[in-house]
Amino acid sequence: MHAGSDALQALFISDLHLAEERPDTTAAFLAFLAGPARGVPALYILGDLFEYWAGDDDGDAPLNRRVADALRELAASGSRICFIAGNRDFLLGEAYAAQAGMHLLPDPCLLRIGTREILLSHGDALCVDDVAYQSYRRQVRDPAWQAAFLARPLAERKAFIDSLRSRSEAAKQEKAMAIMDVSAPAVDALLREHGYPTLIHGHTHRPARHQHRVDGRACERWVLADWHGTAPYLAFDGERFSTHEFLP
Ligand code: MN
Repeated sequence: MHAGSDALQALFISDLHLAEERPDTTAAFLAFLAGPARGVPALYILGDLFEYWAGDDDGDAPLNRRVADALRELAASGSRICFIAGNRDFLLGEAYAAQAGMHLLPDPCLLRIGTREILLSHGDALCVDDVAYQSYRRQVRDPAWQAAFLARPLAERKAFIDSLRSRSEAAKQEKAMAIMDVSAPAVDALLREHGYPTLIHGHTHRPARHQHRVDGRACERWVLADWHGTAPYLAFDGERFSTHEFLP
């Protein structure tokens, strides 16, 4: 458990990439929800909770149901759970959010916790140097594209996603994305636009605390860790952030 949990205000996680073929990470998440997250006022999930999301009508798949049940139990115990979509689970919508007791937030989302202005994002929108990815992102984030995709039968959507994931082109794209970090000018512009907050994001799988100076203002940027069988998370007590790794 984290020290000073009495004053604990919020926990931040991202990039769990939950999937049936990664049961150790699912187990770590369920243990995290029953352990360190228990009693926290707010849990923020900043995208890529799932490795892929075919649509909310897949919410009854065994993994998706188990995760929703565990999240809803935490919500029922008094924690506010908020979700920002990632590039893997951007099709997760109101129906599954309701099933899991989560609130959907836009990306980016500015909020105040304690005395601190905190800006939350998945982070993929900041990777503007990857021109091909941003073009793909514009397409799949388009409401008309999403409506057309979700209108196809669930089995067809899942088959389509499977084929994308197994294609070698996709694997290459995957590799290129892994080496792609956020663009410094894009980070500066985002911090400026939102009044020089503390930025928290995931996506790049490069956990770190960065210090930025934008227009003479000091800004902090926390990059969340991706999950591999343990539960790494960022905690905020209203004044200070601390990183943790829960071993189930
Ligand atoms: Mn991502």
